[in-house]
Amino acid sequence: MLRVAVVGSGPSGCYTAQHLVQLDPGARVDVLDRLPCPYGLVRYGVAPDHEKIKSLQNGLRTVLEHERVRFLGAVPVGPDGVPAARLRELYHAVVHCVGAAADRRLGIPGEDLPGSWSATEFVSWYSAHPDAADTGFLRGVRSAVVIGVGNVAVDVARMLARGTRELRPTDMPDAALTALAASEVTRIHMVGRRGPAQARFTTKELRELGTLPDTAVQADADDASLDPAFADPSGLPPPRRRNVEVLRAWTAPPRADALRLIRLRFFLRPVEVLARNGRVGAVRFERTVPDGLGGITGTGRFEDIEGQLVLRSVGYRGVPPAGLPFDAATGTVPHLAGRVLRGGAVAPGEYVAGWIKRGPTGVIGTNRSCAKETVTSLLQDAPSLTARALPDDPLPALRAEGVDPVLWQGWQSIERAESRLGASLGRGVVKLADWTSLMAAARDAGEAVTGP
Ligand code: NAP
Repeated sequence: MLRVAVVGSGPSGCYTAQHLVQLDPGARVDVLDRLPCPYGLVRYGVAPDHEKIKSLQNGLRTVLEHERVRFLGAVPVGPDGVPAARLRELYHAVVHCVGAAADRRLGIPGEDLPGSWSATEFVSWYSAHPDAADTGFLRGVRSAVVIGVGNVAVDVARMLARGTRELRPTDMPDAALTALAASEVTRIHMVGRRGPAQARFTTKELRELGTLPDTAVQADADDASLDPAFADPSGLPPPRRRNVEVLRAWTAPPRADALRLIRLRFFLRPVEVLARNGRVGAVRFERTVPDGLGGITGTGRFEDIEGQLVLRSVGYRGVPPAGLPFDAATGTVPHLAGRVLRGGAVAPGEYVAGWIKRGPTGVIGTNRSCAKETVTSLLQDAPSLTARALPDDPLPALRAEGVDPVLWQGWQSIERAESRLGASLGRGVVKLADWTSLMAAARDAGEAVTGP
């Protein structure tokens, strides 16, 4: 009987588990996560006001509740937990679905000034990630500069513009809700180094900015018209054409009665984050122009955009998973159809799926086909992998490595605690935002959590 460990319980991990149990009627799968909570970026990355996307959790829940799938939370893999090599001994195969946990850097002076944060630090804070720090993101901020024009940039710009009325029904932690409610941000600049036709956001997400109450949106016509496709987008591929059409409609002067303004700027490349009184005061950009090939060239002309908060939203970056080969240039693990490659040769029993396999691109559903490819490879290899005898249940051996997994009942106990917390605040479910509360809630499940 095939026994597989999937490391990571985000969409790629859950879809991997799902394909395994669907395609192999005997397979048993343990889905490990270093957090006591499942669902990865669906829980800690999808914006709280995107309830429809959040509801994908229901599908992932069904996978983790499958009779041959077991969730093992609070199990770090690597030097601080279970060594990757030990995992290989305990399972016929290990599929690493650990995503891309770090942020890309800009590599410009001032990037680390107080007030300059990666968008993911901000997202983690309002999403109640237990490792997130409350840096006082919004204190004294009137103007924010978001660098990058992808969907994460749209998410953080939208969250900065949302009012309490819209945020209160979400599961956002109370501290973040209070801080956002007290926010004095009136200007949000979202800045792309290339043109409107090269922006990475999707049209649905872009359009949503235009629906925010009390917020006007304006695309800078002078910037945008540097792109020849802006005047006539008809030759662009449909997704990009639709983006440009939305932006064209936003070049009119913004309505005067709005409390906040989101300004979309283009052809500005960040060169320095400027300090004022020891923290961020502005970002200096170099004006760029299109090079005719989809890229840009600098012009040597500069513009400063004022902001007391800078959110660098320039993409995620994979972190080398313990014990696996890693291509630093792409931030991914080298693989052949999901089989890990060591020195160019297939490493038996080791697989990857999701962002650590293909890089941080695509929507959640992209992970389905990605996971299927990996599972297909794994099941082709299964006859040789299962020739090795394993202990009956790896759980005692995992505990011997010093971890104390949070089982499904523990996670359900966290869910109940989050419902209780919300009820006590007169809200719906409100997420627990720190390790102590999460672990206390998980252990509240008693015997079921800690027993064998
Ligand atoms: P992304 O789509 O790769 O966008 C990154 C942005 O940063 C691009 O505009 C890029 O510009 C810019 N950038 C990169 N390096 C830069 C630099 N040195 N200086 C200035 N700008 C720079 O990344 P993301 O927004 O983090 O999103 C990651 C993935 O998650 C995407 O697939 C996205 O669609 C997905 N996601 C989806 C949703 C949703 O569906 N609602 C929400 C969030 C995230 P260039 O194009 O010029 O490189």
